[in-house]
Amino acid sequence: MTIEQVVQEAESLGLQQIQFLYVDNGGTIRGKVSSLRKLKSHMTGGIGLTPAMQAMNMMDELQPVPGIGPVGEVRLVPDPESFRVLPYLPRTASMMCDMLALDHGPWALCPRSFLKRQVERAERLGFRIMSTYEDEFTLARRTEDGHWEPLDDTLCFSSIGMAAGHPVIADIMDALEAQKIYPEQYYPELGHGQHELSISPTDILTAADNQVRYRETVRAVAQSHGLVASFAPKPWADQAGNGAHIHFSVWDKEFSRNLFWDAGDPYRLSPLGYHFAAGVLRHLPALVAITCASVNSYRRLNPRSWSSAYTAFGPDNREAAVRIASTFWGNEEASINLELKSSDSSGNPYLALGALLAVGLDGIEHQWQPSAVVTVDPAEMSEEERVEAHIERLPATLSEAADNLAQDEALKAAMGPALHEAYLLVKRSEADHFRGQDAVYELQHHFQKF
Ligand code: GLU
Ligand code: MG
Repeated sequence: MTIEQVVQEAESLGLQQIQFLYVDNGGTIRGKVSSLRKLKSHMTGGIGLTPAMQAMNMMDELQPVPGIGPVGEVRLVPDPESFRVLPYLPRTASMMCDMLALDHGPWALCPRSFLKRQVERAERLGFRIMSTYEDEFTLARRTEDGHWEPLDDTLCFSSIGMAAGHPVIADIMDALEAQKIYPEQYYPELGHGQHELSISPTDILTAADNQVRYRETVRAVAQSHGLVASFAPKPWADQAGNGAHIHFSVWDKEFSRNLFWDAGDPYRLSPLGYHFAAGVLRHLPALVAITCASVNSYRRLNPRSWSSAYTAFGPDNREAAVRIASTFWGNEEASINLELKSSDSSGNPYLALGALLAVGLDGIEHQWQPSAVVTVDPAEMSEEERVEAHIERLPATLSEAADNLAQDEALKAAMGPALHEAYLLVKRSEADHFRGQDAVYELQHHFQKF
């Protein structure tokens, strides 16, 4: 769509508000709203934003990022292609934004521009990337004493859970579809109030945009049912965590051939797929600082939680960080993909998918090989067996993950030093904020943030 087409459609629908959305370094979705009257000028020139917003952590505490203070301005410039009328808000649409510097170029700290740079890097190698998030979320009610109780305490995949979730899930499915996000599969998950609704893959930039819309939609529709939807990685300490596994595959430039497919491989994965996986596994202890981006994330990443706790690689291994997903019957070639389980919805999807692509391309460029596939739960192996198989325990805290990211030269080069530094300052400040606080405080402040 062009700017003119968007403005025309907004006028013909009589829209009142057009949201200009972005995601910050703390994983919070934020934005500003244009009136219809000013839409054309805001789309052309952007809406002004203080650079300080990219120095803000998830508690709205401003961090001392060098060069960022009260002075200066960047512009939120929406991508017209991302224009969607919001089915859950009257007379409102949204668009996803890049942050441009006043010289009209991408600002060094713009997360969406970072993902676009990685997409361009892949395209220079002749690749396009197909991806989607597979989100789990928790539906809850606010209790009179200000806490949350799960919508249901039914069993995993139980039809009683389906019945409990049905009214809200039906509306979520409709609302996603109306925004060209296509639901594929739904079920009540293991945790109390936990539901999982997967959506179709798209090109990787759209996948990041869709993850923003998905979080927005699920929260808003739940609210219209008098519920709260939580994307906290571990909304309750004693219940299953909310993962947001990332599925991805590398395709040719026309999206006509899945380059992860190899009929001759025991798991149908091509050498390119193994190289990509090797890049992810090698950088994973640093990558999780971005894909498992909150303090609460590390309560989820524990052994025997099916969320991945080790840098393991395996076919259909639900305890492996990187899983080779078995193919769908009748659609083998297109459906071969890798799944990153060490990922949740508390982060910035542009940074997460950009970083995932960066480390995958690193693996491809170096032609790395992953260590042997693991077909058991890595937690059941002895420490010696894990060392021999090059399996490491993932970081136990956000600050440990941030230390790894600080030392990861490939991710630093891909992000650029300014984004890398700002991101680390924000993440370390969040780790500091929650250090010494109890679990109740941590859960309370993550429950409704994402
Ligand atoms: N809830 C698990 C997680 O935290 C995933 C369970 C599954 O879908 O296999 O990632
Ligand atoms: Mg699941």
